[in-house]
Amino acid sequence: MELRAYFEKYSDEATCIEELKNKRLENGLLCRKCGHDEHSFRQNDLKFQCRKCGSRTSLRSGTVMENSNLPIRYWMICIELMTLSHRRMSILKIQYLLGHKRYEPIWLMVQKIRLVMKIRDEKYRLRAYSEFDPEFLQKIDKLAMQKKKQKLNDGEM
Ligand SMILES: [Zn+2]
Repeated sequence: MELRAYFEKYSDEATCIEELKNKRLENGLLCRKCGHDEHSFRQNDLKFQCRKCGSRTSLRSGTVMENSNLPIRYWMICIELMTLSHRRMSILKIQYLLGHKRYEPIWLMVQKIRLVMKIRDEKYRLRAYSEFDPEFLQKIDKLAMQKKKQKLNDGEM
């Protein structure tokens, strides 16, 4: 797939919200409260709602995007670039292609995706949009912040 095609596939945030919603439902979303597997989706606040008990789960929660303010579009483009294209790209290039002003959030996003891929790859291929347990995500956040500190101390950013 041409590089440009990834950006065209995920051309706007609404498309990406729809895509992420579908991917999470395909992966099998279970209600954390009652374990039921049927959910409706609330467009106004981007939450899944359990059809049985009414409990709500946000679209990003449990995924690698959980603690990020970056658009879902950035994440989806990056995840596909890094997992499907087998292309090793510089973070500067990704930042440039996304058209984002600041380097740091993009750097952090890429580190998190790399960490998730690396840790997951030890057992099986990454299912990028699957739900991870909170401990796993905390570990990823912590490792990414550690890497950030090291990097800042090295003066590379
Ligand atoms: Zn429920």
